[in-house]
Order: sequence, then C-alpha cells, then structure tokens
Amino acid sequence: MKIVFFSAQPYDREFFTRLNTLRFELNFQEARLNEETAELAEGADAVCVFVNDKVTGAVIERLAEKKIRIIALRCAGFNNVDLEAARARGIRVCRVPAYSPEAVAEHTVAMLLALNRKIHKAYNRVREQNFSLNGLLGSNLHGKTVGVIGTGNIGKVFAKIMLGFGCRVLAFDLIANRDMEVLGVEFHPLMEVLRADIVSLHCPLNEQTRHLINTETLGMMKKGAVLINTSRGGLIDTNAVIEALKTKQLGGLGIDVYEQEEKLFFRDLSEHIIKDDTIQRLMSFPNVLITAHQAFFTEEALSQIAITTFRSIDQLGQNGNLTDQAALLV
Ligand code: NAD
Repeated sequence: MKIVFFSAQPYDREFFTRLNTLRFELNFQEARLNEETAELAEGADAVCVFVNDKVTGAVIERLAEKKIRIIALRCAGFNNVDLEAARARGIRVCRVPAYSPEAVAEHTVAMLLALNRKIHKAYNRVREQNFSLNGLLGSNLHGKTVGVIGTGNIGKVFAKIMLGFGCRVLAFDLIANRDMEVLGVEFHPLMEVLRADIVSLHCPLNEQTRHLINTETLGMMKKGAVLINTSRGGLIDTNAVIEALKTKQLGGLGIDVYEQEEKLFFRDLSEHIIKDDTIQRLMSFPNVLITAHQAFFTEEALSQIAITTFRSIDQLGQNGNLTDQAALLV
C-alpha cells in the first residue's frame, strides 16, 4: 500500500519511516494538500494529512478521481475535512483521537506558567545582563480558580495538573464527567466558568464553538484574567481579544493556535515580511505568548501518532473497519 504524506516536515519523515513496521510505501511531500497538489497523490492508496491541509469537497473530488481510498489525519481535530463529501465518494477517513493528551496539557501549563511568571521576558533580560526584577512580578497559581472549557482527553489531564497546583477547577462541557467531579472538579454553566482567574480552552472547533471567545464572552470574564488556547484558533475572535488586551480586560493571553495560522505556522518566515497585521499586533503585547502549534510536539506523541496512523490505514485497507472506533470518522 502506498501512502502520500502532505505538509510533511523532517520530523514526520523521521518518525513515520522509523515506525513503518508494516513496510508501506511512503512518499513525503512538503506541499499542503489542495486542488492543485492533489496531483501528487497519483498512484497512492491513502493520503496522510495534518491540521492545515484543507480537505474540501473539491479536494476530495480530485482524490476520488485518483482512486484514493483512505484519508488519514495525523492529528485529533478534523474540522479541516469535509466528512460528508468523503462519505459521498466512499473514501474512509480516520484520525488519531488521543496520541498523548499529556503532551498538549503539559504545554498548556508551560504557557500558563511562563506568562504568569514572565519567564519569556526574564529569559531575554538575563541574557542581556539585566538582573533587575522590576516588571517581573507574578502571582501564585495556588489558590487561583481555573476554568476548563472542554473536559475530554486533554482538558481532563490539564484539570488534574491544575488540581495538583492547588487551584480550584471549574469546568464546562456538554456532558459533566463524574470521575472528574470525584477528583474535585466542579462542573458549572459556561458563564460561571468564564469568571475564573484563568480560562483554558480544550473543546473542538465546530459551528457551536467558533468564536466562543468573543466581545460578549470576554466581557463576562474577570478583569485581568488569563486566557490560554491550545485547541484551535477559530475558538477565539482574535480582534475581540486584541481589544480586550488593550483595555486590560484580559490580563494575559497564551495561544498555541491562531485563526489564520495556515498562512504562517510550520514554516521559517524569518526572512519574510509578515503581511498579517493581526498576529503582528498580538506579538506586540508584553503579556501575550505565542507558540506555533507545538503543543503536540513530543517524542511520545509523534511515536504514537505514527503507530496509530499506520494501524488505522492497515485495518481500513484490510477489512474496512477499525478496532479503535474513536479513530474512525467515515
Ligand atoms: P476530545 O474529543 O477528547 O474532547 C473534547 C471535549 O470537548 C469533549 O469532552 C466534548 O464533549 C467537549 N465539547 C464539545 N463541544 C463543546 C462545547 N460546545 N462546549 C464545551 N465543551 C465541548 O478532544 P481532545 O483530545 O481533548 O482535544 C481537544 C482539542 O484540542 C481538539 O479538538 C484539537 O482541536 C486540539 N488539539 C490541539 C493540539 C495542539 O497541538 N495544539 C493537539 C491535539 C489536539
């Protein structure tokens, strides 16, 4: 079976090649998947895509013409794939539902700690032999209230870590989780969870959650609260967040995902002129920390992504079904 990887980075090549125990034929393409680059899938049985490959109905038409049978997402989120179009063309779609929730949850905590204790500023300051503490005052996480929106695989791990820090954890999900309540997490309506000192987003991006954080919900938040988003950029109305940072309604922002990230992330643009004024404005705030979709990026997660993706492609290719039902989308 031949698999063409789109948006392939050197680390994708390294991990998928190393863990290719089933000896699939692997072809790595740097290009994002779109209507033009779909040509590169010629002769393949499966394509493997990542978060910023836009697998639209038109792209699926091209893939169907090339007799592609499987679209394998090497990520958990699947908001970038037209599942109905895939179903209509008989193409199976799978994802990696939970490769390492700890990787993303720990990165969320890293962002929160860095922002809260101004580590990003301290790092640069000390390197310039400025050993002054003025302007680096932080606050304890212990005793603070943390609001977790979405208590699935990642939100659950994040909530547990925050409980370990001695925080009070409030959570909102469509379904309250009894096991988490036993641990001490309190489930409340969204409006109450938004009033926490720290709010962290761990729900998927869909029509209900798009711009969940907007002018109105930012207005419900506690003045000076910290917002962390390691889920999907579209959960936040970025312009509304910029206004809230300007008025200090928002006291800090940590984002690993950004609404317009597909034009920027996963590339070295250090020699280019960035035309996106919104991200430039965000980067100008001292209390904003941005990482470029790296929350998943650990050894453990990359290994698990490769293992699960190969297993799903193998099972779909052999008998058309998956033992892990959560991995099967179509
Ligand atoms: P998951 O499916 O296990 O959990 C999502 C939770 O959100 C579920 O409990 C679900 O009930 C809840 N939810 C759904 N709609 C909601 C709503 N309207 N309001 C509140 N809660 C709602 O997913 P997960 O593995 O925990 O991943 C969460 C998100 O993190 C993914 O959708 C993905 O977008 C993102 N993610 C980011 C990275 C990264 O590197 N930054 C890596 C993996 C996943």
